[in-house]
Amino acid sequence: METPKNIRVHKEAGVLELVWTDDDVSRIPFRAVRQDCRCAACVDEFTGRQILEPDSVPESIMPDDVSLTGNYALKFLWSDTHDSGLFTWNHLRSIARRLDANDA
Ligand SMILES: [Zn+2]
Repeated sequence: METPKNIRVHKEAGVLELVWTDDDVSRIPFRAVRQDCRCAACVDEFTGRQILEPDSVPESIMPDDVSLTGNYALKFLWSDTHDSGLFTWNHLRSIARRLDANDA
């Protein structure tokens, strides 16, 4: 289980910054997090098909609130009022890795 030792919400830069225990740093744009929400409203829980239309997420999406759930996940209250998704550490790190791979 990968765990961040530091979590910062950079609203000016529009990114969630996570510093992992191996000192790797992930900076994930808020929009990429919101677009990868896997709650029952965003992903069909039986087929795994994404219901959320990624392009429908506003460029200006912001978390109005970010809170820890247990010590395994983050919960966001998004500026589009969506708040039903939980993002585990592994999920967030996988989003960051995918973005890094796309940049390379
Ligand atoms: Zn969702």
